[in-house]
Amino acid sequence: MRSMTNSPDTPGPYTLEELDEMGVAHDEPPEFFCEHCGKALSARCYLLLGGTAWVPYGQCQCEGAITERRREEDRAHAQAVQRRIRELQKIGIEPRYQNAILCRDDVISYLATFGEHKGNGLFIQGISGSGKTSLCSAIVRDLHDAGHSVFLVSASEMLETIQETFDKPASTANEIARYAAYELLAIDDMGRESGSEWAVSTMYRILNKRYGCMRPTIIASEHKLSSLGVRMSRRGDPERVDAILSRIKQVCALVKLPDVDYRIARNGFPVR
Ligand SMILES: [Zn+2]
Repeated sequence: MRSMTNSPDTPGPYTLEELDEMGVAHDEPPEFFCEHCGKALSARCYLLLGGTAWVPYGQCQCEGAITERRREEDRAHAQAVQRRIRELQKIGIEPRYQNAILCRDDVISYLATFGEHKGNGLFIQGISGSGKTSLCSAIVRDLHDAGHSVFLVSASEMLETIQETFDKPASTANEIARYAAYELLAIDDMGRESGSEWAVSTMYRILNKRYGCMRPTIIASEHKLSSLGVRMSRRGDPERVDAILSRIKQVCALVKLPDVDYRIARNGFPVR
């Protein structure tokens, strides 16, 4: 019996019996054979543009057909994996960190209430190798998957991309506006950048704009805030540095990672 949804208004596919039952004029179905074992396959008919189009129907279960379908599935899977890698790289997550696991309750609850933060972010502090980049990557990935516009970048790379636009003032402003516009921006490795007066003032422009627009920023650093301030003040304007630190203290909750270098610990070296 043909189902109610298969009215002649829909293109099908229909069996020969269904076409006859509906009184649809049609040509005789051609014979279809499995290209691997030669077995005859049944035919179904699509009604298109007033004509008919017969197609083979059903999957042959012979070894050749199964192998080919599996190969096709593997190819599709590999392509999907590559697409996902590129998608996450576009938001700043490198392949090494793309499968990072979120394992901190404070960060998980931060993400669970993300829409209610009104501009509040996180200051993630931990020694080199303690998992700052992994944590930032997991946060950015999960927010991206939830449909938010997010970006992860190291402080020095962010400043370099802005510096590259120096000869075109309009592009410099655009680049700064881009970093200010993400719903969430995660700045990794703060304190490793050059610390020049320009770097400090550019960092301030971005953070201050985000602060004003109540867009949350996540900052990760191996330095505690006080030593971050000392580092940035070496060559930058101390007042600007104070303004940066004050913004961070106002709107970022501290996430202190354990002083363990997991990269070294994993390889059997003594943990410092
Ligand atoms: Zn076959």
